[in-house]
Amino acid sequence: MHSPAKWTLFRWAVFAVLIAACFSDGVAQQALPQHGKRAKKLLILNAMKVDGVGTPAEGPVDIVIEGNRITRISPSDPDGLYRLDADGVIDATNQYVLPGFINMHSHLQNSAAGIEMPYEYQHALWLSAGITTARDLGSNFDEAKVEKRKSASGEIAAPRLFLYPFFTGEMAEEEIRNRVRNFKQAGADGIKCWGIDRETFLVVADEANKLGLKIAHHVGVEDANANDDAAVGTTSIEHWYGIPDAALDGVQSFPSDFNHANELHRFRYAGRLWREANPEKLQQVLHMLVDSGVAWDPTLCIYEASRDLQRAITQPWFDAFLHPALEKFFTPNPEYHGSFFFGWTNTDEVYWKENYKIWMKAVRDFANMGGIVTTGEDAGFIYQLYGFGYLRELQLHEEAGFHPLEVIQHATHNGAKVLGMEKELGRVKRGYLADLVVVNGNPLENLQILLPRGINKTLDLQHGAQGGISWTIKDGIPYDTSILLNSAKEIVQAARAKTRP
Ligand SMILES: [Zn+2]
Repeated sequence: MHSPAKWTLFRWAVFAVLIAACFSDGVAQQALPQHGKRAKKLLILNAMKVDGVGTPAEGPVDIVIEGNRITRISPSDPDGLYRLDADGVIDATNQYVLPGFINMHSHLQNSAAGIEMPYEYQHALWLSAGITTARDLGSNFDEAKVEKRKSASGEIAAPRLFLYPFFTGEMAEEEIRNRVRNFKQAGADGIKCWGIDRETFLVVADEANKLGLKIAHHVGVEDANANDDAAVGTTSIEHWYGIPDAALDGVQSFPSDFNHANELHRFRYAGRLWREANPEKLQQVLHMLVDSGVAWDPTLCIYEASRDLQRAITQPWFDAFLHPALEKFFTPNPEYHGSFFFGWTNTDEVYWKENYKIWMKAVRDFANMGGIVTTGEDAGFIYQLYGFGYLRELQLHEEAGFHPLEVIQHATHNGAKVLGMEKELGRVKRGYLADLVVVNGNPLENLQILLPRGINKTLDLQHGAQGGISWTIKDGIPYDTSILLNSAKEIVQAARAKTRP
């Protein structure tokens, strides 16, 4: 059926195609998008698409972004009328397009070890690693709110931020409830519980549940464990403590001189915790968590120094990208959280390697039972650098037994689900927010290809001209990752000039 209006529109479109054919050699001539500026109509052409829900790659497709939404995805068509009047074009021939990554465990940091470090540095590294959303699990809440607002308005180059301020310490019940209500009023998206006993945790969770606030729980070696998380319906367990704890027969066999306040003790014996979990009980605990809808954000990368300290301290991107504030903070010092490597031994690493095996199998089992697994980096601690830590997290999920398609699902759709944003974020799909990662190569063949070119020797050795994320698009705004990486590098150089005269 042709309405007269549609018919006229069609004739104009044909006319436009003819004009376009006369005056250009096609879309290849059209302008690259402008870094940091949202186009009215942005095209990504000839791309292989990975949706984010575990389905296989498909392409080549053309993706149309208008404003901050994906408005069309269709098989590539050089003559497609939708290709006209774009003000930004990315030719993604031989490139893969994935949903923007969701970093489920992050901390906004503007200083470390007493040295200032601009948020801009962290944002640039995150975006250049394809992270378009970060869940902030505790930082300076007032400053984080400002960063969140500026990011949402496009004023700064930064991921979308979801803020879960810290709840820690002990206090009377009414005070606990008031604090949770205050967080809600101040615009928190959730609460991060950390370092609190069972009694306090149950009150926080009760109040948060009443207010509809999500809960991320870094269970410590406290009297609360995964049983409590299942009981209150915690949104996500961070790291892993609390899970093997709930599967112990009795208590962990700590040596008599163990002191929980000593980080070296704590991290050393954490490495011997999974082996003490009763395997049968562990399966029951995992089932219970799945049945209660508790997601698991294992942050595998943040403990890796414990199983391979040499690797951790010599990561190749430190040369160009390690800010002196972090460099100082990572140097062993009992004053700095996570910088506990005094007398770390081969025996410690052997225990930790075993710890990882049991832990990774538990994560795989949890997913097999239907549990939701997400990816978070917790960088800024224990030799993990923003963005690079996250890309390592993806590699470790593959090591835990997940297909790269599942890893990408953890990094995108699963994160969106836990944030309650799965209708808008975490997929390459029409109608979704335009948060996308354009990869120069096939990450399903090698997840390491997500690392930037030029600083990873294995990549340079094996992938020729391929590799690296070329564009990260957040909220429809395209960011050229080479520009972002350069800006992070310049911040580091300027800071080094100040701190190393
Ligand atoms: Zn953390």
